[in-house]
Amino acid sequence: MRDVLASGWYILGPQGEAFESEFAGFCGAAHGVGVANGTDALELALRALEIGPGDQVAAVANAGGYSTAAIRAIGAEPLYIDVEEDSMTMDSRALAAAIGPRTRAVIVTHLYGRVADMPALLAAAGSVPVIEDCAQAHGARLCGRVAGVWGALGCFSFYPTKNLGAVGDGGVVVTGNSVLAARVRSLRQYGWISKYRSISAGGRNSRLDEMQAAVLRVKLRYLEEGNVRRRKIAYLYNRWLSGAGLKTSAVGNEHVAHLYVVRSALRDGLRDALRSASIGSDVHYPVPDHLQESARGRRWAAGGLPVTERCCREVVTLPCFPELRDEEVRMVAEAVCSFSAPPAETCLCY
Ligand SMILES: *Cc1c(COP(=O)(O)O)cnc(C)c1O
Repeated sequence: MRDVLASGWYILGPQGEAFESEFAGFCGAAHGVGVANGTDALELALRALEIGPGDQVAAVANAGGYSTAAIRAIGAEPLYIDVEEDSMTMDSRALAAAIGPRTRAVIVTHLYGRVADMPALLAAAGSVPVIEDCAQAHGARLCGRVAGVWGALGCFSFYPTKNLGAVGDGGVVVTGNSVLAARVRSLRQYGWISKYRSISAGGRNSRLDEMQAAVLRVKLRYLEEGNVRRRKIAYLYNRWLSGAGLKTSAVGNEHVAHLYVVRSALRDGLRDALRSASIGSDVHYPVPDHLQESARGRRWAAGGLPVTERCCREVVTLPCFPELRDEEVRMVAEAVCSFSAPPAETCLCY
């Protein structure tokens, strides 16, 4: 950070270039293009695919609304696809059933740190390009293959709380396709091909600055270690919550446990109990995109999304971050168990 300050070069310089190639290398992608944040990464990926007004983009409605914001920013419209009961990620059968001639792209969100069923989703998408939203899945894998290199483009956020976080906003788009990489590169800076010469309509100002890149280069070295610790915490929760009568999230060796999410029909009571024990919790996410006030009057989910809606009513996120100590995980698990266990019984969670 001192070197960046002393250099006097703060935007699109050597740190950014080094980070782009280091992060692309980490993913095994040929190209990385730094952008200002994860939502811009999604928007610029859509623009690079030349999606626009009149086009439909398939996406899920239980992932915080980021893809919806990107889709609406380019004047396209979302086509909401329901999620699978277990993984809470996009259901490939629902995608295959819903995809139509106006569907020009699919955004798959690797929710909570788990890679969605990409082989099935890519098959369902057929020739329609797939964008991966990897903002919760830095380093997550499926069958050994990392998030971000399955589809046409992979989009990452470096918001401070992500598994790889900057000291401000940041994002990157990775791709194996040099034409798409060049388009994102141009779009992130006014549509320029070189200084003051614009070749792409829809250009933006969306750059990753040198200070963020310098920090990210250092923190990238600790990403795997942090992911291992998050996964360990998730395993501990799964063990200690096994008697709590909740639906816990599956944690495979390839998940990166961005969030540890359980499901409970008594969510609000559980959150109150945690709050009185001074334990923070959150809900990711309480309102599905198609039921948001900003979607009023639109018919983007005419058929309804029963699994999505049930998830949004039941999910609750427990503390899960690398700095959390085992005793603290145990304390949280105990608080959850004492709320969930029937009063006459002893808690047999661990
Ligand atoms: C955080 C997040 C984003 C958005 O990233 P920003 O950098 O905050 O714009 C997009 N998608 C998902 C799934 C996220 O969790």
